Amino acid sequence: MNKSFHIKTYGCQMNFYDSTRIAELLKPMGYYESNLPESCDLIILNTCHIREKASEKMYSDIGRLSIMKQNRKKYGNDLKIVIAGCVAQAEGKEILSRNRDVDIVVGPQTYHKLPELLKRNEKLVLNDFPNESKFDFLPLINKTQSSAFVTIQEGCDKFCSFCVVPYTRGAEFSRSVNEITFEIEHLILNGVKEVTLLGQNVSSYHGMYRSKENKSKYSLTDLIQHISKIEGLQRIRYLTSHPSDIKEDLIKEHGNNPKLMPYLHLPIQSGSNKILKKMNRKHTKESYIELIKKVRIARSDLAISSDFIVGFPGETNKDFEETLEVVKEINFASSYSFKYSPRPGTPASLMKDHVEEETKTNRLQILQKELNNQQEIFNNSFLGQKLSVLFEKKGKKTNQFVGKSQYLQPVHVISKQSIIGEIHDVGIYNKTSHSLHGNLKI
Ligand code: SF4
Repeated sequence: MNKSFHIKTYGCQMNFYDSTRIAELLKPMGYYESNLPESCDLIILNTCHIREKASEKMYSDIGRLSIMKQNRKKYGNDLKIVIAGCVAQAEGKEILSRNRDVDIVVGPQTYHKLPELLKRNEKLVLNDFPNESKFDFLPLINKTQSSAFVTIQEGCDKFCSFCVVPYTRGAEFSRSVNEITFEIEHLILNGVKEVTLLGQNVSSYHGMYRSKENKSKYSLTDLIQHISKIEGLQRIRYLTSHPSDIKEDLIKEHGNNPKLMPYLHLPIQSGSNKILKKMNRKHTKESYIELIKKVRIARSDLAISSDFIVGFPGETNKDFEETLEVVKEINFASSYSFKYSPRPGTPASLMKDHVEEETKTNRLQILQKELNNQQEIFNNSFLGQKLSVLFEKKGKKTNQFVGKSQYLQPVHVISKQSIIGEIHDVGIYNKTSHSLHGNLKI
């Protein structure tokens, strides 16, 4: 009899990509995916370590699963519990020692071993950084959506002082151009029209391309140019970049390549050079502003989004004011902003001059008000205008379909026929807080 599994994914797009690949690993074992965890044979928590209290949240989820497992046992049934992702990497054996109902703990670089570990039917922790690449062992993704993530790079060598990624995902690793191309071609055959190239620090991509004659190293720009030739691939995005790795060739590519969408997510984190230095960000406020000017010259309609941390240790009112000044100078299309909270094991967690919680909250409110205002101005500018939209799914209302504009805004339209997987021009006539509404211009 087939068994069912459910994956609960926390955190970033890379974790969602990993969950898709874990699902493909399990299917040849006779497992099918279910959205009903309460009746599943196997539950996987694919955890994230970026947000505050990540491990507490995971342990509380494990506690709930543990009760479920104990109840099943009373009726002679089992539930396998697997913990994957960055918290699994960071906590390792501690997870098994804190809850004996967990069966397997696998890190982000070892989850390709999951089928083998499940067959062994014993308590196991596998969170080392193996010499082999997991990508060599993963089955291809059989997607049916029109947009897909493709991990091209993992890990990070930047060591920002607040971030756990270099410890949980390891050193920078780039997949080969040939492997990525093969994966994208397979996705296109399965109906995908748009790919987002993923990496913790995607702009530092340096993968190998092997042709019959020779082999050479490709930058992110080289890779984008290479995959742009794939027939059927209509849109390309990439995520997430570091300001110090965006070079002239990539800037020019934004101006020259119609398949490269006019959207750039470029975290700045703070507008104060003093704080950027403490964060070990390797860029300054001035270099960031200069970079944005250059990309806007190359592609004037580029939508810029960013990440901000407020209340980093030592951040004064003056530092925060500098962040606000940068925000006002740049005008972001969308942004993510958070209060600083220490991650165990990071250099910033050992810094002494912590900012009061109340001050952090006040600063975050002020910053988000400004950022929301900028997002609203950006979205309002499309009222009465035309956007190109790739439709991905049905909306909540009858005959409603939802897609993404070239600037990554959600757009809703009404259509009697299914338009999923199609790209259409849409006349925008209305907006709500998070999305735009329009009419099809077929
Ligand atoms: S560049 Fe990004 S992933 Fe790398 S350490 Fe800094 S914040 Fe973390």
